[in-house]
Amino acid sequence: MTITSSQLYNYYQCPHKVWMDENGPKDQEIQETNPFVQLLWDKGVQHEANIIKGIGAYLDLSQGSRETRVDQTRKALDAKVPLLYQPVLTNGHLLGIPDLLELQADGQYLPIDIKSGQGFEGQAEEGDQKQKKHYALQLCLYVEILQSMGYCNTRVGFIIDGDGNRVAYDLNLALGLKNPQTYWAYYEQMLQEVRNILSGKESNDPALSGVCKLCSWYYVCKQWCADNDDPTQVFYLGRSVRDKLKAEAGIHTVADVAALDVQALLAQKKKDKTFLKGLAEGSLTSAKRRAELFRSKGAPVAYEKINLPKVQYELFFDIEDDPTQDFVYLHGIYVRENGKEYFKDFTATQISTAAEEKAWADFWQYIWSLPKDDFAVYYYSSHEKATYGRLQKKYPVVISEEQLAAFFDHPYVIDLYTNIVLKLTDWPLSSYSIKELATYLGFKWRDATPSGALSIQWFNDYIQKNDPAILKRILEYNEDDCIATMVVKDKLASM
Ligand code: SF4
Repeated sequence: MTITSSQLYNYYQCPHKVWMDENGPKDQEIQETNPFVQLLWDKGVQHEANIIKGIGAYLDLSQGSRETRVDQTRKALDAKVPLLYQPVLTNGHLLGIPDLLELQADGQYLPIDIKSGQGFEGQAEEGDQKQKKHYALQLCLYVEILQSMGYCNTRVGFIIDGDGNRVAYDLNLALGLKNPQTYWAYYEQMLQEVRNILSGKESNDPALSGVCKLCSWYYVCKQWCADNDDPTQVFYLGRSVRDKLKAEAGIHTVADVAALDVQALLAQKKKDKTFLKGLAEGSLTSAKRRAELFRSKGAPVAYEKINLPKVQYELFFDIEDDPTQDFVYLHGIYVRENGKEYFKDFTATQISTAAEEKAWADFWQYIWSLPKDDFAVYYYSSHEKATYGRLQKKYPVVISEEQLAAFFDHPYVIDLYTNIVLKLTDWPLSSYSIKELATYLGFKWRDATPSGALSIQWFNDYIQKNDPAILKRILEYNEDDCIATMVVKDKLASM
């Protein structure tokens, strides 16, 4: 059995993936790499190449058979070579290939991984910045091997992030203010769980979640969940709740969730504080209601009257951005104005700050040209607001922080998903994404494979080829997303 940093990452994403990679039916695994995953991969490779170009002298250990590289790595470490690129570390059943190993002034080696994302998660300004668990897991594996080989005596590693910043990871830190478990202890726990799966001591079940659509086992797991009436098919009911309900309350299926006796469970929780810990009455009641609706395939339900503004202009708004290069390339609006409908786009057709700023400034010029308090803006998810917060910091001359806050605080600027669909309604669906809801309501995207992730890939293709047909595809896809938002809004207004 060999455990690699990729397996730790997979386990972090989904514990079942490690099991499937080992035991799943290979003939049913999706063979084509998802184009978005490929794009991320290509960008990561490109970023790594750019960093390595400017890093100075190093010993390149990236070529050759694994055995040769293991041998060369050991020799280089013994010879105290200052910087090693793609060394192969192995000890017992652990195998790690850090991007770099760097000799420190005190003679020990520390690992460095090059990542195209941010070095931390959370916002520094809001004081909630933390080391990323999945980056830390990989660094821990390298440090453990280095320690066992005698080349390291501390628990520290480094990330070079997407902006080229070097970020120190102290692996002895606690995971959070309320979680005293250290990154190192978390790693040891994950490692043991992966070990148990690979040795066949433990197995686990699929659990449908947002990451499944990018996974090669998607169809196999989806079918398993359907065949087994698995509770993760219920919207918002994830792996940890499913496993807790199963282990502590004997609830195994969607039918069981629909039949929950919430009051009896609450009475048991009162007697035993450890029983279904973290699952409050609201979560249990919502799970039961959603499971009932999912099973009956009944009509969507609104729990309160939904009041939406009556205005001259209704704007259905959606942005497209490429998170791999922190770039917003399209602000799309589908306008409904006194019975007329039309699409407006504000698009950056080159990757440059000038193009991004101009598209955003044009968007705001349009918004400010509308009659005050006689227009409503509908969007779907908190992504638009969060992205605009970042754009405002980048381009404060376009709009001030106060103006942006006032825009999103206006009662006629409505996040349909966060404020209405999630809080006030339920649907007989596993996911309440705009794609699922609008499709359920009969809307069809013109594109055969509509997805935000693919739009990013198309945009990158467009930048390389400058082909108007690709730009047309991007715009049509965004327009359809905006129209889908309108379809959902109209349904909500009628519920
Ligand atoms: S499809 Fe989902 S549940 Fe199945 S292995 Fe992949 S991520 Fe895990």
